[in-house]
Order: sequence, then C-alpha cells, then structure tokens
Amino acid sequence: MLVQLAPYAANENQSRGRRHEEPAAKYRGEYQRDRDRIIHSTAFRRLMYKTQVFVNHEGDLYRTRLTHSLEVSQIGRSVASALRLNEPLTEAICLAHDLGHTPFGHAGQDELNACMRDFGGFEHNLQSLRVVDELEAKYADFPGLNLMFETREGILKHCSVRNARELGDVGERFINREQAGLEAQLANIADAIAYNNHDVDDGFRAGLLSLEQLREQPLFATAFDRVHQRYPDLEDRRLIYEVIRRMIGTVVTDLIETTQGKIDALGPQSIDDIRRAGKPLVAMSDEIHEQHVLLKRFLSRFLYSHEQKLEMTRRAQTIIRELFELYASDVQNMPTEFAERAAREDEADRARIIADYVAGMTDRYAISEHRRLIGAN
Ligand code: MG
Repeated sequence: MLVQLAPYAANENQSRGRRHEEPAAKYRGEYQRDRDRIIHSTAFRRLMYKTQVFVNHEGDLYRTRLTHSLEVSQIGRSVASALRLNEPLTEAICLAHDLGHTPFGHAGQDELNACMRDFGGFEHNLQSLRVVDELEAKYADFPGLNLMFETREGILKHCSVRNARELGDVGERFINREQAGLEAQLANIADAIAYNNHDVDDGFRAGLLSLEQLREQPLFATAFDRVHQRYPDLEDRRLIYEVIRRMIGTVVTDLIETTQGKIDALGPQSIDDIRRAGKPLVAMSDEIHEQHVLLKRFLSRFLYSHEQKLEMTRRAQTIIRELFELYASDVQNMPTEFAERAAREDEADRARIIADYVAGMTDRYAISEHRRLIGAN
C-alpha cells in the first residue's frame, strides 16, 4: 500500500539538501539513504554499550541507548505513517537522536559539560549533530555523513541562540524563532514516550519501583485497572507488559488524534507553513500530556534519583572528570590520531578534541581506560 505524503510532510523534492552535493541514489530515497548511513555509522554501533538509565554491566535485559533508539524509532514511525508524514526521515532522526551521548547517560554528560565549562560547554544534542556533520570519518569526499538538511534539523532538537549563530543554516530557526518540520517534532515526543514507558519496565524489573507506587500514577493506574479487571490472576511480570503496551497505545493514539486536529485547524500546505506555525503542532491533549508529565516526574524522583542510581552517578562523574584531566595533562594518553591533532591546537580546541574522544566512549571502554591510566599514573 503506497500512501501519499501529506503536503506539509518533508518531501525530498523540496529539501534544502545536503551540505556537499551528491548524485541521487538509484533505488533509495534520500531520507532512506540518511537512515542507512546512520545505521552503518560507528557512533550508532557504540550505542549498544552506552547507558540509558542502567549501566551496561548492570544487567543484560535493561535498555541500552541502542535499544532505546530502536523503540523511539518504532513509535515515531507508527505515528508518522498514521499522519502521512515522511516515515524514513522520522526513522533517521529517531535513530540518530542520541548519537552524541556520553558514556553513563546524563551523569556523564553533566560532568563533561562541567569539564568544558571554560571552552564552550558540552551538550549531547549539539554533539549528535557534530557526530553526523564532522566526527564520523567514512567518506572520501566529505567529513561526517553529509545528511539532508531536514535530518540535521531534526537531530538538533534544541540549541542556545549563541550556539545557533555558529551552526549556519541548521541553527537559523533558533534565531528566527521558527519550528522544525513535523518529523523532527515527532521524533522529539517519541523519545519521551519511549523512555517514560521503558523506564517503568526497567525500574520495576530492577526492583527500584513497586506496583503500589506505580498505581498512584494516573496513566499507569488507568491501564492497570483495565488489565486487572480482564486478567485478575495474571503474574506481575506479564501484567506490567500488558499495562505498558496499553499506556503506549493510549498516549500514541492521543498524540495522533490531537496532532491531526491541530493540523486540520491550521491547514498548512507545506513544511514551511509548519516551520512558521508559531508553536509545535505535534502534541498530546492537555489531559494526557499532564499524566505523561506526572509519570516523568515520578520516574525522575523515584528511579533516576534512587540511591542506587546516585551511586552510579557519582562513580561516573569521577571517571569522566579524571579521564578528561588525564588527557588534558598529557594528550599522549589518547590514541595517536587524537593526540597528534590535540598537540597542534590551542587550549580550547584541545579541550574540544578531548571532549569528542571521551564522549565517543562506551561505558566499559571508559571504565577500562580509566583503570589503565589511573594504574599507570
Ligand atoms: Mg533519547
């Protein structure tokens, strides 16, 4: 079944194109090609060993940044297809959205940002764009993956005006206060839907969240009551899955219908109408949004700030900070290609090279590098 794209969806024929011109692919669309480049990138493979919430070695069943990105992509694609948006573009943005993440999740990013305070800071979102624009070294003719404008626009979810000024075309919307296309807006919300739900699953599995606690959350409670009524004797593990699939269903259905309503009310005829719409059109209804935010706050309080997680946070911060300092004090502690480039640069550019190197590490590589260097020093 070939569904026609909506007029306001991203359309490669009206794209702002690639930074370096390339001949069209013979059998693939341009956004499909972007998605394929992302899947073949080194940064994408590393997501397998990077923390989402639980450090990679804490257990084999928890989400990693890779499986998180796949779940984001699944949700994004479902909604894109229902709204007749560009599905390959949505998929590409979803798969790439966390490419710039450091090891150890947000704890790692916050510490690296602190290390980079005097040199422009570190922000994972900006780093994701840097990975696809600069850091992936795979092609003879250009640095990075040379992705389409709309894919890069989607990867750069947010950005300060100061940083936006240095980014050229893709930063302009933050200066002009415009929106990104619907596919980008969608990837952003699909991210939040994915983690809200899979973190309930992982948190429960880890024993850090209880059913009693979860049942105080309206989004969870509504789904729980429906499951419990129909399957009163279901064991907890399967019950959680049945609840989560209903929560995702509720939120996704609401998102599709609310967004379609907003689109119908505005009547956009092109992606530029979307960009000039004043505010994002991809949205949940007020009621579901509120429940979704309550769940997010609950997770932040009881899962992300759980004592067991905080212990990991402190350990991660020490590793990131000490690695950064060890490389800054002697760039030869890094592999030759990084060391040689860093040695030629002034302090700020040297710090950026170190940040790129540390940010690219997987959890276990950071741990083993730290052990090796601390042992040697
Ligand atoms: Mg994410």
